[in-house]
Amino acid sequence: MTSTHYDAIVIGGGAAGLSAAQALGRSLRRTLVIDAGAPRNRFAARMHNVLGHDGIPPLELLERGRAEARGYGVEFASGTVVAVRELADESGLCVDFRGSTPSESEHAGSAESATVAAETAETAGTATVTAGILIVATGVSDTLPDVPGLAEYWGSSVLHCPYCHGWEVRGSRLAVLATSPMSLHQATLIRQWSEQFTVFSAEIGELDPAVAEALRARGTAIVPDPVIEVLGDGERVTGVRTADGVEHPIDAIFTMGTLTAHDGFLSQLQLDRTDMPFGSFLAVDAAGRTSHPRIWAIGNIANPMATVPIAMGAGAMAGGAANFVLVEDDVAAALGAVRAA
Ligand SMILES: Cc1cc2nc3c(=O)[nH]c(=O)nc-3n(C[C@H](O)[C@H](O)[C@H](O)COP(=O)(O)OP(=O)(O)OC[C@H]3O[C@@H](n4cnc5c(N)ncnc54)[C@H](O)[C@@H]3O)c2cc1C
Repeated sequence: MTSTHYDAIVIGGGAAGLSAAQALGRSLRRTLVIDAGAPRNRFAARMHNVLGHDGIPPLELLERGRAEARGYGVEFASGTVVAVRELADESGLCVDFRGSTPSESEHAGSAESATVAAETAETAGTATVTAGILIVATGVSDTLPDVPGLAEYWGSSVLHCPYCHGWEVRGSRLAVLATSPMSLHQATLIRQWSEQFTVFSAEIGELDPAVAEALRARGTAIVPDPVIEVLGDGERVTGVRTADGVEHPIDAIFTMGTLTAHDGFLSQLQLDRTDMPFGSFLAVDAAGRTSHPRIWAIGNIANPMATVPIAMGAGAMAGGAANFVLVEDDVAAALGAVRAA
C-alpha cells in the first residue's frame, strides 16, 4: 500500500491552495491537495482583474491549476477535512478528512490518489493522512442579507467587489444595500462606476450628516426605507421594492454578506487569531505562517479581502516558505545521520 505520509498537505484547492501546491510540486515535494470543491467565486460566470486570465470562468482557472499541479506530481483527493492534530513527536500534522469517492476519481490523476480514495471507502468515509507541513487554504463563505430575491442573483448582478465586476456594470443603475457601518466604504466607492447610484441605508440607521452630505455632493441618492424584495427577470436584477411599496429600478446591487472562515477543523491546535472588521481570522506573518511553525494559512481564510491574484500570490509565497522548512528538516536529518555514523 502506498504511504499516506506526504511532505506537504494543502487543504483547499482554490486559487491559493493550488498555487501553493504548484510551488511545492515544483520543489519535488510529495504533496496532497484535499479539496471540498466549492470555491467562493463559483457563483460568478466570469472572473475579472486577474492579469492574463481576465474574463475566463473561475472554475476554468482551477481546472488549469489542477492540471498544472498534477504535471508536477501533486496528488488530489476530494473531501472535507474535519480535524487536524499534531503528530506525537511534533514532526508534522495528522489530517482527518471525509472523502467523496465519485469526485475523487474525477480529480485523481495518480495511483496514490486512488489509494487515498480506497482508504476513504475502507474507513466508512474517513481517511487519515500525515505530512511534515500543512497549508490551509479553505476560504470563506458569504452569508447574504436575508432579503427575498437577493441570493438568486449573487455573482451575476448582486456583487460585492467593484474591482471584480464594476466595469461590467459601469454607467448602469447601481445600488449599495447597506448591511453594516462597513457599507459606508462601499457607498463611497461604488459611485466611481456610475453616476446613477443609490444607497439603501435602512440597516445602518440614520447616516452621519457629514457622510450623507458627502454622498449627496456626488449625486448619490439615499433611500432610508428598508428593502423588502429584490426584483429580477430570472437572469439579472431589475429593481428593489422598499417597505413603503415603492419599486426602484436598479441594474446591479453591491452588498456585503457576513463572512464565515472555514477553519473549524483547526480548533484543537488553538492557533493565534486576529480581529478584523469582518470577524476573527487566523493570524499569519508576511509569508502566511500561523502561530504554529508547520502550518500556513493563505487566501481568504487569513485575508478575507484577497481577490484571486492576491490569493495566488499568497500561495506562491507560502509554498516557497514551507519548502524551506522541509529543507531545514532535511539538513537536520542529514547532520544527524552524519554525526551518528
Ligand atoms: C461572487 C464572487 C465573485 C468573485 N469574483 C472575483 C473576480 O472576478 N476576481 C477576483 O479576483 N476575485 C473574485 N472573487 C473573490 C474570490 O472568490 C477569492 O479571492 C478567491 O476565491 C480566494 O481563493 P481561496 O483559494 O482563498 O478560496 P476559495 O477559492 O474559496 O477556495 C477554497 C477551497 O477550499 C475548499 N474547502 C473549504 N473547507 C474545506 C475543508 N474543510 N476541507 C477541504 N476543502 C475545503 C472549498 O471547497 C474551496 O474549493 C469573487 C468572490 C465572489 C463571492
